[in-house]
Amino acid sequence: MQPELTKNSPVLIAGGGIGGLSAALTLHQIGVPCVVLESATELKPLGVGINIQPNAVRELYDLDIGPELLDQTGLQTKEWVLVGLNGNEVYAEPRGIAAGYEWPQYSVHRGELQMLLYRTALERLGADAIRTGHRVTGYRNHADGVTAIVQTSDGQQLEIDGALLIAADGVHSAVRAQMYPNQPPVNWGGAIMWRGTTLGKPLRTGASFIGFGTHQHRVVFYPISQPDPQTGLAVINWIAEITVDNSGGLGDGDWSKKVELEAFAHHFDDWNHEWLDVPAMLRGAKEIYEYPMVDRDPVPTWVDGNTVLLGDAAHVMYPTGSNGASQAIVDARVLGAALVEHGVSADALRAYDARLCNAISRVVLRNRGAGPFGLLNLIDERCGGVFDDIDTVVSAEEREQFMSNYKSAAGFAMEQLNAAPPTIARGAKATASPKHSLVKSLASKERVA
Ligand SMILES: Cc1cc2nc3c(=O)[nH]c(=O)nc-3n(C[C@H](O)[C@H](O)[C@H](O)COP(=O)(O)OP(=O)(O)OC[C@H]3O[C@@H](n4cnc5c(N)ncnc54)[C@H](O)[C@@H]3O)c2cc1C
Repeated sequence: MQPELTKNSPVLIAGGGIGGLSAALTLHQIGVPCVVLESATELKPLGVGINIQPNAVRELYDLDIGPELLDQTGLQTKEWVLVGLNGNEVYAEPRGIAAGYEWPQYSVHRGELQMLLYRTALERLGADAIRTGHRVTGYRNHADGVTAIVQTSDGQQLEIDGALLIAADGVHSAVRAQMYPNQPPVNWGGAIMWRGTTLGKPLRTGASFIGFGTHQHRVVFYPISQPDPQTGLAVINWIAEITVDNSGGLGDGDWSKKVELEAFAHHFDDWNHEWLDVPAMLRGAKEIYEYPMVDRDPVPTWVDGNTVLLGDAAHVMYPTGSNGASQAIVDARVLGAALVEHGVSADALRAYDARLCNAISRVVLRNRGAGPFGLLNLIDERCGGVFDDIDTVVSAEEREQFMSNYKSAAGFAMEQLNAAPPTIARGAKATASPKHSLVKSLASKERVA
């Protein structure tokens, strides 16, 4: 259940995705009452596979969402591999525990992870703290708090007061649109991804993340479940991707747009190799989603008074580094640490912003340059993507250096992570900011507009 309401009004969280729910669980842990306002009338396990990097898994463990729960939801990733067009290996490295991290990397179904966080939040905070059918459409800052303007699914317009508003309302964030009314539309570089899951035999380590093809034409696939003991088959998440001329216009960034196989399978017709039959993998999916690879131009700050952006609302990025969801979890924890240090206050939001906004904006721009898949760009420049011996194209040293630079920038370099103290010390609590008046109940802070 929620901690006693003390001097601070509840903190409002717009959005019950991975970022918003991680923030709610973190606030609960540090003793700050909060309410999640989620636009969907019901949370359902939508999406396909994502990777959670060790820096974010560490934070989930610190939220007492440990291996016993995560192993039921996904699979510990053991390897990250790039394979060129003719099947020759470009680069392979161990991941997670196999690489020496103290925490694993997980490949999970995005919706299953969201549902795990949702169930945990319901258990710990109570059902009142997570309000579905509540779309945040705007906000008003005050000297001592913020009012969220909310449209409910039954047609009411509400005004809900809180100490702070954390906007975790995703790529099309209404809060960000108000904060930056002149922001350009989402940015699309021309890459289109088709995504699905198919039952198949996991390759290599049994838990390998494999990118196969070129910088503009590839498939990425990895298992997101344990193999069935009888059949040996696991759920394989796949992404088939091509890059086209983007002058025709932008995609809308909709994750739920279903398409038929015929719309794109021809791009991969002759990708039938002895070790992998791509057309069969694509055919095996029950549902296929099309998603244009979009991001937004970074902004100079994620804070406006008592309102702050988090997760995709702050820094939606190309998923080339598999770190969008991980970063949303880390954001929630860094914000929690700032609340512990500075109290429930705008100072805490500014401390969080100072720590992350510039650094993560650089990752957004880096992912535009293909993130870790940038190695394929190098190979394309040097030999048109086809090679016999990778060492003659990009030396082992250069490959290692490229990957290590990426991991440092994205915050999951192993030595630093293993040596870093916990983001939030166990038992740490945030204090109320003295500015906030005593609030007896959330209802007293909510009215019909
Ligand atoms: C339906 C869906 C499917 C996805 N599938 C994939 C996938 O397959 N692979 C992948 O890598 N990434 C996927 N993503 C994106 C990935 O989950 C995010 O990049 C990452 O987890 C960061 O999460 P977030 O919480 O910041 O944003 P999101 O996960 O986008 O969550 C935002 C939440 O806010 C809610 N919301 C939106 N607008 C409002 C509003 N105005 N008021 C209140 N609530 C609002 C949304 O319903 C959603 O629950 C998906 C996102 C969504 C919403």
